[in-house]
This record gives sequence, C-alpha cells and structure tokens, in this order.
Amino acid sequence: MAPKQTTDQPRESSQKKIRNQKTRQTKKPATTQELTSIDPNTLGLIIAHYGKKAWVQPDDPTQAKILCHLRFNLPTLVAGDRVVWEKSDQNKGIITHQLPRNNELAKSDHRDQKKPMVANVDNIWIVIAPVPVFSTSGIDRYLIAAELAHINVNIIINKIDLLSDLQRTQLLKKLAVYSDIGYLVLPASTVSQESIPFFKAELTDKISLLVGQSGVGKSSLVSTLLPNESIRIGGLSNLQQGCHTTTSTRLIDLPWGGYLVDSPGLREFGLSHLTTESLLYGFKEFRPFWQHCQFSNCSHRNDLGCALRQATESGHITQDRFNSFQALNNLLKKSN
Ligand code: GDP
Ligand code: ZN
Repeated sequence: MAPKQTTDQPRESSQKKIRNQKTRQTKKPATTQELTSIDPNTLGLIIAHYGKKAWVQPDDPTQAKILCHLRFNLPTLVAGDRVVWEKSDQNKGIITHQLPRNNELAKSDHRDQKKPMVANVDNIWIVIAPVPVFSTSGIDRYLIAAELAHINVNIIINKIDLLSDLQRTQLLKKLAVYSDIGYLVLPASTVSQESIPFFKAELTDKISLLVGQSGVGKSSLVSTLLPNESIRIGGLSNLQQGCHTTTSTRLIDLPWGGYLVDSPGLREFGLSHLTTESLLYGFKEFRPFWQHCQFSNCSHRNDLGCALRQATESGHITQDRFNSFQALNNLLKKSN
C-alpha cells in the first residue's frame, strides 16, 4: 500500500504550497517508534467511520470486524486509516492510535475547508465510456487530483463493446496520449466481460477508488465484480447496526482480497483551490520542463523562453495537454 513514487518532486516552494493545501491534522499520528512495542495482532483498518465510532477490520484475518470507539485524544479518522485497537467489553473495541497516512483524499466543504474523506488509497480508476461522451480535460482533472494526492491512477474505457473495430482503434489512438505518458488505459466491458478478470486481479489486496461521470458504468463494474448483491448490500447494512448516523465513505470488502472505496462525495474533484504550480505538478509529463522556463514568473503562454511551449513544439508534450493546462490555469486565475 505504498504511495506512488514520483520521479520528480515539485521544487521546494511549490512542495511547501502543496503541503499547505493538504488538510492539517490537529494531532499527530503515532510514530513508528512509538508503535514498536504494540502487538501486531491489534493493528487494523477502518472500513467505515461514524462520528465517534468506527468499524475496524483487524489485520488478523481470523478476527471479525469490530465496532470501536475512538480514544478521546485522536484526530478525525476516516475509512482507510490504519489504526491500533484493543478489545474493551462485549465485543466492542477502542481505537488507541492512528498510524501515519500514506495519502488522503479530501473534499472541500462549503467554506472551502478541506475535509479528508478516505486515506491510504492505492489506486484510482477513472472510468470513461464512449457514451456518455467524455472530454480529455475531464480526464485531466481526475489525473491532476490523483497526482497531487500521490495516488497511482489508471483509466478504464468501459462499454468498449459498443464500438466497431475501427471506432475502437480511433478511440485508443485519441487516448494514446495517456498511455504514452505512462498511465494504464484499459478497454473493458461489463457486457462482453473484456478485461474484467484483469481488472479484478489488479484490485487484489489494494484499496481502490472508481471515479467518473454518471452513466459510464461504475455501478455495473461493481456488480460485475460482486455479482452476489446480497453480500454487498448485506455487508453494508451490517456495518450500520448500532450506529445512528450514516457515513458517506466506506470500504467494500472484496472476497478475493482488497477493498473498493464507496464514497459518493468523491466522484468529482474540485480544482479551484489549486495554484498554477500545483496544477503544473498534476501534469506529470511537464515535470522535466517546467523548471526550465527562462523567467521564473513565466505565465507559460507566449512568454520568451517558455520551456513548456518549446516542449510542446518539439512534441514532448502534446498540444491537447498543453491546451488543457492553459484552460484549467485560466479557470484558476478567474477564481483566485
Ligand atoms: P454509473 O452511473 O457510472 O454507475 O453507471 P451505471 O453502472 O448505472 O451504467 C449506466 C448504463 O450503462 C446502464 O444502462 C448500464 O447497463 C450500461 N452499461 C454499463 N456497463 C456497460 C457496458 O460495458 N456495455 C454497455 N453496452 N452498457 C453498459
Ligand atoms: Zn513557461
């Protein structure tokens, strides 16, 4: 469950800015040193969180999920958090420590405050389809959010069964920009089952999140993976027993190992809070170039010596991605 390692980090000033954009935690999670004396049998994963209670799946697979209270001094925990817990009474438990997060995905609330929704996601799968039509700038938005959170990200073209061979080739050509810069682009279908076994294997032992616009087939993919609906729905309703409030994010157990994040709040990512520097970082193939513009205040438009423009002219960056960056950057400027 290691976070994605990136080859290039943004330069110091932007690293600081990106860090500042992350939600600050009021209390520090336990350090590895503090945890060395803890019995590994008391480690677990939060699969759902409700106010001051959370369901924990113990790491020890022989132990059933346990409803735990949170020790009073803990920060807000979310699904995906790794924790230390201990048994209290009557099959209940108490969470005593939070382990450090590899990453977190947050949603901005109405006051533009970031609220973490899920932690330690291994893979984001952007689902697109021939219908409803997608825009590459829509894909770019998801890619940027994933890159900034340091989460590995892939693209699934669902409903590939709807296309003729020629249309399929044309679509893959259009999306080659993404495979060329290193993202997995997977044609798939819940109807013909193309790529479903591969997709299933990719989810094994990972925490995965499916995102994409409505109608592309996210629910169909989930029901293809978990055809026994009663297991899925039953599992979720069991989790709600003894809880009076509902939760927006939870992890759905995959019987062959791993979890799918179920979070209606995370289907879209807002980017309005970003700076130009963090936006640039989200375009991963730009990273070798953007520190080489002649002027440090380059607006990456028609400026003299703009390394990004030169990289676009020499074919190292596609015109589409450069245009997409410009369009998003203009939006940031308007909203800032
Ligand atoms: P969601 O809004 O992303 O969850 O999308 P749904 O799973 O509700 O699917 C939207 C529509 O697409 C439904 O009518 C599905 O039956 C259809 N659909 C889903 N997957 C496929 C597929 O692989 N091929 C085709 N032809 N239709 C699909
Ligand atoms: Zn420039």
